[in-house]
Amino acid sequence: MTDVLTNSMTDAVTDAPTDVLIVGSGPTGLTLACDLALRGASVRLIDQRTEPHHESRGKGLQQSSLDIFEGLGVAESLTAIGYEEVVLRKYFDGEHINDTPVAGTGILIGQWQIEGALRERLAGLGVTIEYGARLAGITQDATGVRAELANGSVIEARYLAGCDGGRSTTRKLLGIPFEGSTEEETAMVVGDVRAPGLSRDHWHQWFTSEGGGTMLCPMPGTDTFQLQASPETDEHGEQLPPSLESFQRLFDRHARMPEIRLTDATWLSTWRVNARVAGRMREGRVFLAGDAAHVHPIAGGLGMNTGISDAAALARTLGAALGGEAGEEVLDAYEAERLPVVTEVVADTSRRYERVVEAVRTPGRGIEAGLE
Ligand SMILES: Cc1cc2nc3c(=O)[nH]c(=O)nc-3n(C[C@H](O)[C@H](O)[C@H](O)COP(=O)(O)OP(=O)(O)OC[C@H]3O[C@@H](n4cnc5c(N)ncnc54)[C@H](O)[C@@H]3O)c2cc1C
Repeated sequence: MTDVLTNSMTDAVTDAPTDVLIVGSGPTGLTLACDLALRGASVRLIDQRTEPHHESRGKGLQQSSLDIFEGLGVAESLTAIGYEEVVLRKYFDGEHINDTPVAGTGILIGQWQIEGALRERLAGLGVTIEYGARLAGITQDATGVRAELANGSVIEARYLAGCDGGRSTTRKLLGIPFEGSTEEETAMVVGDVRAPGLSRDHWHQWFTSEGGGTMLCPMPGTDTFQLQASPETDEHGEQLPPSLESFQRLFDRHARMPEIRLTDATWLSTWRVNARVAGRMREGRVFLAGDAAHVHPIAGGLGMNTGISDAAALARTLGAALGGEAGEEVLDAYEAERLPVVTEVVADTSRRYERVVEAVRTPGRGIEAGLE
């Protein structure tokens, strides 16, 4: 093994090597952990967070992901909560124009609820997530991987899966390029809010002739809405950061419903247009999956779903490798299957995003343009 670890780090190894160390407990890492544990592999799952988040984020869980979850035993608890049909209510300059039902593509449900169901399943399989554990270094040889954590401890594993999101430490440590583009400006502010008095029967989408808009999507199993809006700018044209006050001003400008006051912003964030794919999804015994390997526009709702499909494919490859057939051909199967798919997803979602941006200028059109 390449000896770049200090003696003290070597001393910090306390446990027997695990089959697979998974870095990141988002939907990708959790799906992979459940699948591998069900295959009888020993897994450790670390996350730099100190606790789970409670954010709606990716809210469109597609049928392909539900099929994977069915096999893992987590689909039922999610379909019990999620909406199978959602009605997009489109407004233009404050006027209600039309409603478009969208169904048959999966369910609408908060990402935190998806992650919660996977965590519960994982706990039932005897795997505990190790929070507050940040990956900081990787070395590997022909027999295994040594992961150095920021706290100085070391985890040894036969394989490592970097499911650590768009800013992936794993990808950077391996020096794998993340090719593509990132727009400088924020495209959207996003968050979770309450909007007492606003109907929860529709995903409200207000667009205006001056450009820009605000959308409020009722999140199942909660009394909150996910807000997505074009960012507010100050008198110099500088974008303002997301805040409850800014959300209210955007809502007032686009929805023109003075009686509705937004409250309880439990999540505030921004979203930029990124379209990038990792140059490789494997380096020796280390693999990349999910946002760590691809980031793209959210039009069409494919980000989390693509990561879940990556996880299922990686579990098949690692299952075969751990079963004794760990030749290059077996290890290469994952990248051979997924790299062409994710490359096409990035191109496809970029086209979908352009279609949505164009469509919402027409009264009565909304994000369904990204689903066509
Ligand atoms: C507003 C919005 C709407 C969206 N809508 C959709 C949608 O409808 N459908 C869809 O499919 N997708 C959607 N997405 C995208 C989706 O949220 C992401 O694609 C998804 O979260 C990616 O999952 P992941 O597990 O790959 O990465 P992440 O969810 O980013 O998880 C990565 C994890 O790795 C951890 N981590 C990072 N670095 C380290 C380290 N060095 N050591 C240890 N741990 C580390 C992080 O703490 C994090 O928990 C949306 C996103 C947003 C913001």
